[in-house]
Amino acid sequence: MDNGLQLEMNFELGINRFRNCLDNGVFSLLIETNVPALDTELGNAVNRLLELEKAVASVSAFPVGLAVTDKWPYPNSWNIIDFIRKLPAERRDRHVIYLSGADTSAKDLFNTVKVCVGEGFLNVVPVSGSVRPEDSERDVRKRNYVESVNVLDSLRREPARQVFPGCVVNPFKYTRGSSFAQYYKLIRKLNLGASFMVTQLGWDMAKLQELRWYLSWRGLYYPSVARLCMLTPERVEKILRGDSPGIIIPESFRRILESESRFSLNQFEAAQWRRLQLHVAGCKMLGYSGVQIAGVDTPEKLNVVVRRISSALSEFDNFQQWLAAYREHLGQLDMSPYPYSFYVFEKLLSHPFPVQEFPKMRYSGDPVVGGWEKFGYAVREFMFAQAHEQAPNERIAMKKMLAGCRSCSVCRLPMTMYVCPEKCPKGMASGPCGGTRPNGDCELPGQGECVHLKIARTAVWRNEVDMLEDGCLEQSPRFEKK
Ligand code: SF4
Repeated sequence: MDNGLQLEMNFELGINRFRNCLDNGVFSLLIETNVPALDTELGNAVNRLLELEKAVASVSAFPVGLAVTDKWPYPNSWNIIDFIRKLPAERRDRHVIYLSGADTSAKDLFNTVKVCVGEGFLNVVPVSGSVRPEDSERDVRKRNYVESVNVLDSLRREPARQVFPGCVVNPFKYTRGSSFAQYYKLIRKLNLGASFMVTQLGWDMAKLQELRWYLSWRGLYYPSVARLCMLTPERVEKILRGDSPGIIIPESFRRILESESRFSLNQFEAAQWRRLQLHVAGCKMLGYSGVQIAGVDTPEKLNVVVRRISSALSEFDNFQQWLAAYREHLGQLDMSPYPYSFYVFEKLLSHPFPVQEFPKMRYSGDPVVGGWEKFGYAVREFMFAQAHEQAPNERIAMKKMLAGCRSCSVCRLPMTMYVCPEKCPKGMASGPCGGTRPNGDCELPGQGECVHLKIARTAVWRNEVDMLEDGCLEQSPRFEKK
């Protein structure tokens, strides 16, 4: 990317309206739009973007901005800077820009953040990027995935002026290990300077409340935005096919969607609008600072969304009234993917605010650290306690045999419970991506349990979970080779 000149540019707007809304508790709306695929004519895509932005700018009911996603859902997409720099300069502080770590280097991604900020896009969310559905394990291992924690860490060391960094979290996890592993990584990102968070797409209001309660229990009062979506039959099919890692439609919800589509597309659409209204109103009741809505790609749809959300926000006076309407519409509250149904708290959706309840750290339904694993840990601890301070090839044969070492140029075993993080096909070192499957397996088929869940299990057994929330681990050495 030609970054040299832009790095020097700086917009002296002095304000960040998106940030002001979060700071002052003003409920906001983000409309999700994507950088177009490379085989799309860029000029046409930019025209559509400008039309959408114009419609967004004309909304007066509540603050609205765009959320522009990079390399999603099109991994081969135009350069995000070339796309977003056509947006009017005077409203750039209202938008949120997601920057993907897929197929880039840590240095390039960090430079892109700085270019965004220099151009007036102050709200930036780095994400690691998803595995492409068609990729084999070998393909994935050949790609670079820059972890968001590394970008946040670089920003902490060398802050770009006025940047307001955010992070993503996936609360829609249903085993104890995968839930806590997400929260530990979230706290790591907050410790590294993320100032707000955006959730993965999901429909389970209990999980959205769980995230708010967990943060509150930890004394972390950070603003959060819930990602929602206007479902279409095509989008449902795509999610069910597994094309959207980390997003799940459990069987019970699939049946509801099926019944809604039984008679006509209009009936299906009406049901989705109502669901969206209930979710938006519910998010506000649960303490979310705003919602980001996917699937609204034209000014016409935007006008409908604004009308529906306005009426939803004034429909309910209190939490119990909203809960009754939500229950009536859904016919049930359980949105967990059977047989996985772990929730950190028992009394979710009984009350809008956190009740005095301790999170369920111990839960018999999850795999424990077995005898052999404990023995293996003790051996590896004895052998490799200083591995991070030694030459990487020292004791390499033993490391290969006992820790599945992949000959990195930097060894992180003592910081990862002596489980080599390079076992993760994406090379994530600082915690799980959002794509783990409902049973805790890796998003890439055939890989078994996500390596970070194993690390988290071991850390819980060792009573060393602090380690999972601290600092940022060295980026995968794959990046050094570039
Ligand atoms: S091992 Fe875990 S972090 Fe790595 S790609 Fe698989 S699910 Fe994501």
